[in-house]
Amino acid sequence: MVRFVVDGMLGSLARKLRIYGFDVLYDAEILDESILAIAKNEDRIILTSDKALHNKALLNELKSILLSEEEDEDRIVAVFRNFGLKLELNPKNSRCPLCNGDIEEVNKSRLKNVPESILEKHDHFYSCMRCGKVYWIGSHWSRLRKLSERVRQRL
Ligand SMILES: [Zn+2]
Repeated sequence: MVRFVVDGMLGSLARKLRIYGFDVLYDAEILDESILAIAKNEDRIILTSDKALHNKALLNELKSILLSEEEDEDRIVAVFRNFGLKLELNPKNSRCPLCNGDIEEVNKSRLKNVPESILEKHDHFYSCMRCGKVYWIGSHWSRLRKLSERVRQRL
């Protein structure tokens, strides 16, 4: 499985790739030097919209993809095409969009801090093993599913 480190401008792309199950390092404040060091030390592929950073990465013989697209949908298509990846949207394989932690399904009887109305409406809940954030398949997920369909048709 390819792993990424993305530049500070691509936060929403980072979150989506994590939901697709990729290990993605992202920090809005990250410096170019740190991105280059992480790519080298952890064998991660750089995703960037910054041409100067991209060129620096190539000079250092690091793997880097320059994303000049404006929209996440187009960026995701570019990434998947580049690596010949299959797009799969399955909460069991997702990582936490906030912190990149692993997500596991949890029994809803053990959940606290989730509104009663949500607990009644949904059967499957997932929790991040790192930051504890709880997820369920709500309206956000159906938007992602539609995005995935559009991407899949273009691959
Ligand atoms: Zn998390």
